[in-house]
Amino acid sequence: MTHALPRFPNFIDGGLVPPQGDAWLDVYEPATGQVYAQAAASDAADVEAAVAAATRAAPAWAATPALERARILSRLADLVESDLEHFAQVESRDSGKPIATTRSLDIPRAVTNLRFFAAAATQFSSESHGMEASGFNYTLRQPLGVVVCISPWNLPLYLFTWKVAPALAAGNAVIGKPSEVTPATATLLAALCNEAGLPPGVLNIVHGRGVEAGSALVAHDGVKAISFTGSTRTGAAIATATASRFRKVSLELGGKNPYVVFADADFERAVDTAVRAAFSNQGQICLCGSRLLVERPIYERFRETFLQRTAALTPADPALDDTRFGALVSREQFDKVSACVDLARAEGASVLLGGSAVDVSGRCNGGWFYPPTVLEGLGPECRTNTEEIFGPVVSLQPFDGVDDALRLANAVPYGLAASIWTRDLDTAHRMAQRVEAGVVWINCWMRRDLRTPFGGLKQSGIGREGGWEAMRFFTEPRNICVELG
Ligand code: NAD
Repeated sequence: MTHALPRFPNFIDGGLVPPQGDAWLDVYEPATGQVYAQAAASDAADVEAAVAAATRAAPAWAATPALERARILSRLADLVESDLEHFAQVESRDSGKPIATTRSLDIPRAVTNLRFFAAAATQFSSESHGMEASGFNYTLRQPLGVVVCISPWNLPLYLFTWKVAPALAAGNAVIGKPSEVTPATATLLAALCNEAGLPPGVLNIVHGRGVEAGSALVAHDGVKAISFTGSTRTGAAIATATASRFRKVSLELGGKNPYVVFADADFERAVDTAVRAAFSNQGQICLCGSRLLVERPIYERFRETFLQRTAALTPADPALDDTRFGALVSREQFDKVSACVDLARAEGASVLLGGSAVDVSGRCNGGWFYPPTVLEGLGPECRTNTEEIFGPVVSLQPFDGVDDALRLANAVPYGLAASIWTRDLDTAHRMAQRVEAGVVWINCWMRRDLRTPFGGLKQSGIGREGGWEAMRFFTEPRNICVELG
C-alpha cells in the first residue's frame, strides 16, 4: 500500500506540510529499483504559499544582525553534524551512492557549507570609492528579498546547502527546490530549522517536478533571483523564462571536462586521480573528467594502468561500508547511460572495459547498476566526445603537444572544469590560460577552496558561486555618492 510509505512533505512557514493538492511523487531507492517513499508533488498553489511566507519573513531577516544570522546557520550546521550518520544513510539510500561517500563527502561538505557562509555573513563588507577632497562613494549591498535555489540530484544536500547557505547568510528569505529524484535530506534539514532558531518563513522547501513546481517558482513575480544548478537544457529554459522580467540568475550547468596528461606528469598520481575523476559518484559529478587526453609517448602505458585500476571498481550495494561504486540515481539515468554507450559503439568506439549493465545479487537485484566503462578510438567531433553523458563513461584520446591538447580540450560546447597534469611550469600555465574552463586544476582534481569563484564558461553556465561571489550574487549593490561642501 503506497500510503504506508514514508513521505517527504514541504516545509513552509516553519511547518512540514503536505502539498495542497495532496499529490505525491514516488521516490525510488536506486540500489533496488523499488519505490521506498513519496515526495510532495507541489504545484502553483504550494509555490504561492511558500512565496507568501518568504515575503512575510524577508524584512525581519534582512534586519537581523549578521552575527545572529551566523549563529543560527552555525547551529544548523552543528545539528546536521550531530546527526551525520543518519543523514549519510538517508542520502545513500535516496541517491544510490556508497555510504562511504555520503559519510566522507556529501554530508560533511553540507555542514561545511553552512559553517563557511555563517562566517561569511560576519565578514561581508562593501567598497568605498573616494573622490579626493570633494567627496566619496560607498556601496550598499542589501539583501534581495525572496530568492529561489534550485538544485540537482547528484550531490543532493551538498549542492542544496551550497546555494541556500549564502542566500540566508546574505539576509534573504529563501525557497529551496531540491531535485524530485533525491528529496530526502533536504527534508531532514527542514526538520532541524526551527531547533536551530531560523524564524518561520526564512527558509522554505518546496518539493516537486521541475516543470511544475520549478517553473512556477521561476515565473513568480515575488521572486527576485534564481540560483540554479542542473542541466544545460533546464538552464536555457530558466534563462528564457526570466529574460523579459530581468531577474538575477546564476546558472551552473553541464560539463564535458578534459583531463589532460602530459608525458612528463607524475604518472602514478595522474592515473590514480584519473580513476577518481572519471568514476567518483558513478561519474555523476559535473566536474568529472570524462575525456581523458593523454600525450602519445605514454598513451599505451597510461591506458593499461588506467584499465587495470578501474577494473578494481565493482558496482556493489551502496549500503555496505566497503562499497566504493554504487548505483546510478534513476531508471532514466540508467537508460541514458546505456543509450550513450550504444551510440559510442555505433560511432565506432572500442569498448575497453564495462559497456553493459551488471546485476548485483541479493537485495540489489533490481537496482540500476552500470559499471565503469572505458572507450577508445573516437575523434573529438563525435557526439560521444562532445555531449555530456553524466555517468561512468570515459573516452580516451591521444594528443601530440600543447597545441594539440588545447585543440582537443576546447572542442566541446562546455567549459566547466579542466585538469592538467605536467611537471613543466610553462606548459601548465600556458594550458591554464588557454583552456576554456571556469575551474582549472593543475596536478590535482576537485581540490576545493570554498573562497574561490566556481562556475563555467560557454554552455556550462553564467555567474559564479563560492565565497564573495555568492554573497554578491545574493545582494543588490547600490552606490551612494556624497559631496563634501
Ligand atoms: P535538471 O536540469 O533535470 O534538474 C535540476 C533541477 O531543476 C531539479 O530540481 C529539477 O526539478 C529542476 N527543474 C527541471 N526543470 C525545471 C524548469 N523548467 N524550471 C525550473 N526548475 C526545473 O538536472 P539534473 O538531471 O537534476 O542534474 C544533472 C545535471 O546537473 C547535469 O547536467 C550536471 O552536469 C549538472 N550539474 C552541474 C553542476 C555545476 O556546478 N555546474 C553541479 C552538479 C550538476
